[in-house]
Amino acid sequence: MTSRVIGPIDPPPRLLMGPGPINADPRVLRAMSAQLVGQYDPWMTATMNETMALYRDVFRTANEQTFLVDGTSRAGIEAALVSLLEPGDRVLVPVFGRFGHLLTEIAERCRAEVHTIEVPWGEVFEPQQVEDAVRRVQPKVLAVVQGDTSTTMCQPLADLGEICRRHDVLLYCDATASLGGNAFEADAWGLDVVTAGLQKCLGGPSGSAPITISDRAAAVIDGRKHVEAGIRADDETDAPGERIASNYLDLAQVMDYWGPRRLNHHTEATTMLYGARECARLLVEEGLDAAVERHALHGLAMLEGVRGLGLGVFGDVAHKMHNVVAVEIPDGMDGDAARATLLADFGIEIGTSFGPLHGKVWRIGTMGYNARTDAVLTTLAALEQVLRTTGGVAAAQEVYAS
Ligand SMILES: *Cc1c(COP(=O)(O)O)cnc(C)c1O
Repeated sequence: MTSRVIGPIDPPPRLLMGPGPINADPRVLRAMSAQLVGQYDPWMTATMNETMALYRDVFRTANEQTFLVDGTSRAGIEAALVSLLEPGDRVLVPVFGRFGHLLTEIAERCRAEVHTIEVPWGEVFEPQQVEDAVRRVQPKVLAVVQGDTSTTMCQPLADLGEICRRHDVLLYCDATASLGGNAFEADAWGLDVVTAGLQKCLGGPSGSAPITISDRAAAVIDGRKHVEAGIRADDETDAPGERIASNYLDLAQVMDYWGPRRLNHHTEATTMLYGARECARLLVEEGLDAAVERHALHGLAMLEGVRGLGLGVFGDVAHKMHNVVAVEIPDGMDGDAARATLLADFGIEIGTSFGPLHGKVWRIGTMGYNARTDAVLTTLAALEQVLRTTGGVAAAQEVYAS
């Protein structure tokens, strides 16, 4: 009835300085406005191959199986875990924030036998703690988050890869929040499956989950391959492993879809592919090391900036991700009201927080397209005004309020 008055999409101007999503790079938005092409058009399959090659560079891997899962980062996590874990398999999850709990929950839904170890929020694990647990649990998969935005911590991974190789454990990593803004080496660190998303340091919208899969993990997944009846070749039989409990997120099928056989599965989310390809092109063009340095610089500027405002910073700063900082809300201040003022009066969004940190810290991101000097200084200037109750801005705000 009211549909006559619903206008075209016209979002308000916002500077998104939370823990994600952030403003997309305009180049990504332009790429996403390109026309669709049929999914088996030679141009399209070539573009898919280019996207695979670009993400091999982004993940720093030679893995043949490097492609996109269509869906948000969580789809990548679910695809990895549901495809690796058979019911009853043991999985170990080191939990140091909210996303460790997510991995735990998803692994439980795969009906795996889930074991967790925990450190307090604001800390990361020592390799020895993980190795002791690996020895005790003897899991098939170790599932760990690299950067957990809920606490801002970045778990060092290099030693974990070595531990997993030594104990013949597959290592899965959720690098959604950290990839592109912090050092990352899929092959050199011995990671078997890594998933990510676009809406953090990659400077795109959410909706596509880049993934890379080592040969040994791909063999485990292929060992569970059950071919869909309608596309089964005459000479094909099912693999001996239990069938993967999802069709959409069945990586055995998705690998065949991106691979040379191009077996039909889902309809590729073409517009997201254009966006994901441009995100990777931006990173590769800048240079991965340069992108990490840029995030380190602007993250440090934001860290010192909030300290300069007299605010405390949560957690073990030596292990903080470059791209997000948890800022202690001053005593007596209503953190949500301050965030609302930042949004309404300055068009700037910063993040709230979850669980034990709720009401205690704001999370401020400097990532992707917004890891820039003007974005950092504008955010700090606005925050400074929100913390003050006198001066020119406060006087103007009183005019608007009256
Ligand atoms: C932000 C984030 C996600 C996001 O998942 P979506 O499905 O894209 O919302 C996943 N994992 C981590 C570690 C994150 O920081």
